[in-house]
Amino acid sequence: MIIGIIGAGAAGMAAALAAAENPDNQVVLLERQARVGRKLQATGNGRCNLTNRNAEVKNYHGEDPAFTAPALRAMGPEKTLSWFRSLGLFTVTEPSGKVYPYSDQANSVVDVLRFALDKPNIELRTGFEVEKLRKEDGGFVISNGEETVFCHRLIIACGGLAGTKLGGSMSGYKLLGKLGHKTTRLRPSLVQLKSNWGALASLKGVRANSRVQILHDGILFAESTGELQFTDYGLSGPVIFEVSRDACQTPGEWTAKLDLLPHCDAGELTEELLRRSKFALPMDELLTGVLHNRLGRVLTRAAGVKGKQTTDRLDSDEIEQIVRAVKSFEISLVEPMGMDSAQVTAGGVLTRDFDPETMESRLVPGLYGCGEVLDIDGDCGGYNLQWAWSSGYLAGKNAGKETK
Ligand SMILES: Cc1cc2nc3c(=O)[nH]c(=O)nc-3n(C[C@H](O)[C@H](O)[C@H](O)COP(=O)(O)OP(=O)(O)OC[C@H]3O[C@@H](n4cnc5c(N)ncnc54)[C@H](O)[C@@H]3O)c2cc1C
Repeated sequence: MIIGIIGAGAAGMAAALAAAENPDNQVVLLERQARVGRKLQATGNGRCNLTNRNAEVKNYHGEDPAFTAPALRAMGPEKTLSWFRSLGLFTVTEPSGKVYPYSDQANSVVDVLRFALDKPNIELRTGFEVEKLRKEDGGFVISNGEETVFCHRLIIACGGLAGTKLGGSMSGYKLLGKLGHKTTRLRPSLVQLKSNWGALASLKGVRANSRVQILHDGILFAESTGELQFTDYGLSGPVIFEVSRDACQTPGEWTAKLDLLPHCDAGELTEELLRRSKFALPMDELLTGVLHNRLGRVLTRAAGVKGKQTTDRLDSDEIEQIVRAVKSFEISLVEPMGMDSAQVTAGGVLTRDFDPETMESRLVPGLYGCGEVLDIDGDCGGYNLQWAWSSGYLAGKNAGKETK
């Protein structure tokens, strides 16, 4: 049986290897870019956070997050790691459950997959961008406009729209749309949030462990604690990715409330600042040793303590104002960065039209979908790649079964 797979990203490569486990299957893997795993190579800042050992249904979003359950049961993090080990990849797990290649290089993940694809029953064709496809008796005819390929079963693993420069595109949604599948509204997720706060330029590059609350018209929308990074256009870093899903995408006032010293309560900070206010330090040095110097300076000024040159001039109300600036600083937000900058697409092809036990389409027998093109997106921390491996593997296994 010939299994056609469109897209040699994480999900498509997992699908190809699973389908090729049966030596009677012939797999044709079609990739429009010049090489496989282009986006994979850029993941995790070049380190590739390939899974998270804590991955569960609750880490996924979409119209029906429970859709992920059978795939996670069939190919959860532990099975994924032993599968990678069998391909020759050594890994290391961080205390948070995030898993990286031992080499700390995303290349290693791409390479072991690339080597594994080098099998007699897998034909890899790069530079092949599928533009047309149609269902015909007993299979599918796929074309790039010049050449056609026939397959008995077809897996669409084209990924999502996020990370446009790394190959994110509308292609998968369009191809599945041609076969009758519908797509929900697509939004950028795991993405930076823009702000027009004037002081941002002076904070560019500053990192701080922070508790971030996103407020929509004053009501708590999302919160998380972790590394925050200031950029010249707004807020970034893992903690922002975690709270970014659907933030700033509906009308109203969006605000980020930052506790820039989450491990220290207001009382302890007040005590420390009162102690410092006994000395005649320059005002700009009040938070030296507490926060990044540039951040300390900006917060002290933003607290509105005007006309005081030295810290010994501060009264207790002013100290309270500064503590408030450190512990609950509010920055108004404008919008998320676009799909170019997003790590993942929220929304996608409706999962209700696929069988979660097999990943087969309920509309077109013999057609399968997997990975980010479907309406599933994960939290920050290795969950999106885990979904790609799990759903890709399950699709490949089932597409490769002789009788159904
Ligand atoms: C910068 C960045 C960092 C990230 N870091 C992490 C991380 O550390 N951990 C994590 O879990 N997730 C991370 N993600 C998310 C993760 O990379 C994706 O969710 C995952 O790659 C999706 O896998 P996929 O196989 O569905 O799609 P992709 O990996 O995007 O693969 C789809 C493939 O299909 C090809 N294709 C598309 N259309 C066609 C067509 N018509 N014909 C032929 N080929 C086609 C594309 O060229 C592409 O190679 C990151 C994403 C980005 C952008």
